[in-house]
Amino acid sequence: MSVASTPARRIVLLVGAVGAGKGTQAEILSRELGLPHLASGDLFRQALRDGTSVGDQARQYMERGELVPDEITIAMFMERLAQPDAARGAILDGFPRTVGQAEALDETLAGHGERIWRVIFIDVPTEEIIRRVAGRFQCPTCGTTYHASHDRPRVEGTCDNDGTPLVQRDDDRPEVVRARLEKQVPPMLAVIDHYQARGVVDRVDGTQEIDAVTDSIMRDLRAPSSEVR
Ligand code: ADP
Ligand code: ADP
Repeated sequence: MSVASTPARRIVLLVGAVGAGKGTQAEILSRELGLPHLASGDLFRQALRDGTSVGDQARQYMERGELVPDEITIAMFMERLAQPDAARGAILDGFPRTVGQAEALDETLAGHGERIWRVIFIDVPTEEIIRRVAGRFQCPTCGTTYHASHDRPRVEGTCDNDGTPLVQRDDDRPEVVRARLEKQVPPMLAVIDHYQARGVVDRVDGTQEIDAVTDSIMRDLRAPSSEVR
């Protein structure tokens, strides 16, 4: 076992269930570290909008809330990671989500003599995730989102901008969130186990305030990892 120095290309993986705060933290870390935020869900949605062949292939899976097959996902993500803006590193959000994807990523990096720098597991218990996502309401007219506990509209149930009654997204209903979590969590834990064996995983308490979560992640990233070679 040796203490690894910071590699030339800094690849940080953010791992956590839906609603754990990956997107929120990735945006902040992207600014703090000057690295692009690469979110597989955003890449798929962009491919759908652009009508590319990846978008066509992914559509049926995305509509069912299922994972897109590894072969399609890996090819799309590797192409994005090879773009010049990721030459110094990237914050990965939503990829890899399966051990197959993790192995493909490791292999690609190893081909350039590189490896994952850090894996940050943003840990939030299921009940808190359901509370968070179930508290999210959206204006069907302008798309603004509100939260029943920490981002309330001035008048309950009504959009501040245009007075439209707020609605809940179908996939944010508690029973739907629970079903998505049941499908998502086992492969996510397998990805964490995969990287845990190398000593590059840091667990962060994702129930803290957003700023405190960022501070915990930055503290972990500044500390040397105890990578197992
Ligand atoms: P993910 O990308 O993991 O699905 P998001 O970053 O979209 O999660 O966050 C999901 C919801 O939870 C958003 O409404 C966001 O504002 C809220 N949120 C994120 N981090 C926290 C936090 N530390 N405490 C409370 N709410 C949070
Ligand atoms: P969610 O957190 O609700 O799953 P995302 O925005 O991360 O939302 O992803 C949207 C959809 O894109 C997923 O439901 C899935 O179909 C697909 N997707 C995103 N990332 C991956 C991945 N790494 N592997 C397979 N499918 C993915």
